[in-house]
Amino acid sequence: MSVRPPLPRRVAPPTPTSDVKKNRAQASSAPSLPPRGPTATGQRKYEDIPDLTRLLARKPPPPPLPAATVSKRLSTLSDMPTPRRGMTLTPFSVAMHLATPATPPTPPPVNLTSKPAFSVEVVEEETTPSCIECRDFSSADAHAACFPRHTIRSVEELAYALAAPFTEEIDKARVAFTWLHHNIAYDTGAFFSGNIQASSAESTLASGLAVCDGYAGLFERLTELMGLQTHKVTGHGKGYGYTALAPGDPLPQVTMNHAWNCISIDGEWRLVDPCWGSGHLGDGGIYTAKFAPKWFTCSPTEFGTRHFPEDPSFQLTPEEFSWEDYILAPESPPIPPIFEELGFTSMTLQPSTKYIPERQFITFSISKRCEHMSTAEEDNYVFVIKTSDKDFTPLRYDNNQGAWTANVFTPRAGTVFLYAVDTIDGQDAFGVGVAAYSQAKGKKGMSFKGLATWTITHL
Ligand SMILES: [Zn+2]
Repeated sequence: MSVRPPLPRRVAPPTPTSDVKKNRAQASSAPSLPPRGPTATGQRKYEDIPDLTRLLARKPPPPPLPAATVSKRLSTLSDMPTPRRGMTLTPFSVAMHLATPATPPTPPPVNLTSKPAFSVEVVEEETTPSCIECRDFSSADAHAACFPRHTIRSVEELAYALAAPFTEEIDKARVAFTWLHHNIAYDTGAFFSGNIQASSAESTLASGLAVCDGYAGLFERLTELMGLQTHKVTGHGKGYGYTALAPGDPLPQVTMNHAWNCISIDGEWRLVDPCWGSGHLGDGGIYTAKFAPKWFTCSPTEFGTRHFPEDPSFQLTPEEFSWEDYILAPESPPIPPIFEELGFTSMTLQPSTKYIPERQFITFSISKRCEHMSTAEEDNYVFVIKTSDKDFTPLRYDNNQGAWTANVFTPRAGTVFLYAVDTIDGQDAFGVGVAAYSQAKGKKGMSFKGLATWTITHL
């Protein structure tokens, strides 16, 4: 298999970066479901989103302000001892974290007894418009790994340490998000026993364990201490244990089982799910600390395919959606994490539903999450649709549609796969292009990586 880092290459760097910070905190006790395993990806049918660009552009009204106060600012913390960073902020990339999420790099312990020794490099404000989907968060993600939980004495100290090198709000929020992935494990004991205790930012920091509410509470507190405006949001999440309703099933009652955050970044409200960003529950209820940055970057529209807030003002979508819209949405094709790591978005994956009809020509289509990501052959795998052991159809990039597409006749039964051609003749096949693939087809051995799966159904 390829050892290539999974991050997509950028075409036009929108924002050179180096910032970081992060945070969270808080307490309360709603059970929360971590996301389902790698195949979890809910979404509405693409046809239900008539004009994605317009919808994404709509400015949502701000959610209600928190009752009490504006959070303490970092400046109020400036006279506290500055933790010394035990390691230099090296440019090891986020890809490294992505590749080994369960065992993040362990930096040397932070020396809390020494006086300020890590000089804070303030990063100049960028004037280039930034795109969150392809922004380089490697500095923030690397900084987040420098503060192991057991070396931290208080939430305030942690907020300060995480935020110190960064000037931009997005990086402060990101460093808090990533820190939670490295340091807080999902409390499967509490979740499966149903014995979920109220938590606070302090108790979550102390225990290193949380269900969704603890993640959202600590994220809220950390980011507020960094000077950001953050809310904890409660509602329903299509997480572990969720299965799509079968046709004809009655509309289930509204239930609340999850918590996440709404945060203002440079005046724009965004939705973040630090619990699902930190890991997921898989088969058998086993927790895997797999970093899922999608739950930091995705749009409110995508977020809303798997999150239904109790208070609709936290939907942030161009148009309000109902419980019925949300819970009755058809099941989407299962996709593993690599689909998103390669820069693709489930929002434009076609067909958008898991079940597709037999014996019909159907257009399969995939596109990148934003227009800055390279679509050049040399920067991508070759993608193919497999309908049987001998039928592989390559997708070709269509400039007009901004997508890779293939029109394929579906089989009588079984499963249709979207693959990336991983190796040809034992060699890494990244960037080889469709022509080289077609030439090798049937002559050389190949291996593939699965990106999406559809099930043939008799309609
Ligand atoms: Zn972009």
